Amino acid sequence: MFPFRGLLGGQKALVTGASSGIGRAVALALAEAGADVVVNFIGSSEAADEVVSAIQTIGSKAIPILADVSQEAQVQTMFKRAIEEFGTVDILVNNAGIQSNAPVDGMTIGQWNSVIATNLTGQFLCAREAIREFKRRGVVSTVSVSAGKIICISSVHEAIPWAGHVNYAASKGGVMLLMKSIAQEVAALKIRVNSICPGAIRTPMNESAWENREAYNALMPLIPYKRIGEPEEIGRLAAFLASDYADYITGTSVYVDGGMMLYPGFESGG
Ligand code: NAP
Repeated sequence: MFPFRGLLGGQKALVTGASSGIGRAVALALAEAGADVVVNFIGSSEAADEVVSAIQTIGSKAIPILADVSQEAQVQTMFKRAIEEFGTVDILVNNAGIQSNAPVDGMTIGQWNSVIATNLTGQFLCAREAIREFKRRGVVSTVSVSAGKIICISSVHEAIPWAGHVNYAASKGGVMLLMKSIAQEVAALKIRVNSICPGAIRTPMNESAWENREAYNALMPLIPYKRIGEPEEIGRLAAFLASDYADYITGTSVYVDGGMMLYPGFESGG
C-alpha cells in the first residue's frame, strides 16, 4: 500500500526528465499520492507516453511536454502550457540531469557547458518559473498550507568530490546553494524548497555501475547498507516532501544513499 495515497489530491506537479529513471519514479509516486503530473521529456516521446499512461492507470491526469530545461524560452513555454492545461503548478521536481565524464585536463568546454546548463541552469530556470506561478497564485488552503514546493534532485556529489566528474560535482554543489538561497528568499511566502540527494540508484544513468555482478560488487565498499537504491525510494521521499506533512521542512538536503555519506573507508580504517 502506497503510504501517501491521497495526500497530494488536487495538486499539480511538473517533473523534469520524467521519462526515465528517478524522474519516472517520482512522477508515478506523486500521481499515486493524488497529484496530476506534467511529464517533461527531451528524448523519446514513446517513453514519456508510457509514463503518462501509467499515471492515467493510477487515476491521475498527465500530459507530456517536450522541453530542454537548459533553454529559457522552452522552459517558459512549458510552464505556460502546464498552467493552461492544469490551471496552476503546485509542485516542481527539478530532476533532469546528465553526466559527461572526462579527466579534468581532457574535459572539453562543451562537456563542461552541457552539464552545467542542464543540471544547474536548468534547475534555476524551472525554479524561477515555478516561483513566479506560486507568487501569482498564493496559498490556496483547500489544496495545501504552502503556496508551492520545489524539490531539487541533487546528489551525494553536492558534498562528495568526484574525480573525473568535475563538471557534474560542480553542478550539484551549485544546486545545493541554489536550493538553500531560494529557500531563504521565498520562505516567508510559504514556498518550500528542498533537495533530495541520491547515492547510487538503479537507473540508466549509472547502468555501468550495476549491470553486472563484478561492477555491483565493486560499488559495495562505498555503500555501508550494501545494496543499490531503487528509483521508487526517491519517489516516496518526493511525495512526502511535497506533502503538508513536511510543512516545516525547507532549505534542507535529504540524503537517500544507504550511508554513502558516512565515509565508508572508516568502517575498518582510521
Ligand atoms: P536518467 O535515467 O538518465 O534520467 C535523466 C532524465 O533527464 C532523462 O529522462 C533525460 O532524458 C532527462 N534530460 C536530460 N537532459 C535534459 C534536458 N536538457 N531537458 C530535459 N530533460 C533532460 O538518470 P537518473 O539517474 O534518473 O537521473 C535523474 C537525476 O538524478 C539527475 O539529476 C541525476 O544527476 C540525479 N542522480 C542520479 C543518481 C543515480 O544514481 N542514478 C545519483 C545521484 C543523483 P533522455 O533520457 O531523453 O536524455
